[in-house]
Amino acid sequence: MSIKINDCIIIGAGPAGLTAAIYLKRANIDVLVVEKGPYGGKVNFTAIVNNYLGIENISGPDLAMKFYAHAIDNNVKIISDDVLSVNKENEIFNIKTESESYYAKTIIVASGTQEKKLEIENSMKFEHKGISYCAICDGPLYKNQNVAVIGGGISAIEEAIYLSSIAKKVYLIHRRAEFRADEKLVNELKNKSNVQFLLNTTVKSLIGEKKLEKILLSDNKTIEVSAIFPYLGQIPNVQFLNLPNILTDQGYIIVDSNMETTIKGLYAAGDVTNYSLKQIATAVGQGATAAQSVIRLIK
Ligand code: NAP
Repeated sequence: MSIKINDCIIIGAGPAGLTAAIYLKRANIDVLVVEKGPYGGKVNFTAIVNNYLGIENISGPDLAMKFYAHAIDNNVKIISDDVLSVNKENEIFNIKTESESYYAKTIIVASGTQEKKLEIENSMKFEHKGISYCAICDGPLYKNQNVAVIGGGISAIEEAIYLSSIAKKVYLIHRRAEFRADEKLVNELKNKSNVQFLLNTTVKSLIGEKKLEKILLSDNKTIEVSAIFPYLGQIPNVQFLNLPNILTDQGYIIVDSNMETTIKGLYAAGDVTNYSLKQIATAVGQGATAAQSVIRLIK
């Protein structure tokens, strides 16, 4: 039985993966995109995007839909499946998913990152019962209630701004007094009348019977909240890569300026790479660059 060998398989249908796919399709390269989550990637879990050129203010899911529609318009084939392993044998990559085995001459890993989980007393108990990592998905469940957002990065501040339009009160809990998020965003949050900043503060424990009711803070005070939204940073999605010496100590894929790894035919783009600026704009640029590298290799 003959096996089909794709020119390129892209793992991840976020802005990096879908941009690469569109560029490859336009160069007549045979490409398949595999995505286990919603098409469009993590943008789907972002309330508002307002720093992508040409689109001044858009909800994350609406922007994700635009990315998807653009890819489909270019006849990009996307399948919904979970990649379990990637190996290379005899110059060909083998990609095993939950339901299939695929082969490809080149791979672009654009699998993004996932939210770092909160690991404190009772955090397992309240997972999905008061702890949420997606404000746009779960925020409306807490309409007119008190909620807390943990973290001082862009994700925490953006999502706290979104939650302030739904919740009765939003506590922004951050372990320092300085923020990773830019000043404009932080000031926007500070100007919300129903937001209280708790700085130099951490959460020690979660309290409640069946669902979250209160949280215990590092100063031993408790505050009443129905939900917490931790935005503690990201973990790269690379667990399926069985290839040597391509990751940083933190697990990000090391790429050069052509988005190439040290393994011939293996490229990466977007948040999963060691490139420090993690934005939709940079993911799109890296996706285009990775596609050009594939085109050069294949043609
Ligand atoms: P991040 O920038 O890594 O921020 C994580 C925050 O969580 C930090 O403030 C950190 O505190 C805090 N933190 C980490 N571990 C903690 C713990 N155990 N307890 C308490 N606090 C903890 O993460 P992010 O906001 O998700 O952003 C990740 C990347 O995506 C960034 O490069 C960001 O620029 C990008 N991003 C871009 C956009 C956009 O452009 N629209 C949106 C979202 C994210 P410290 O500051 O003290 O370390």
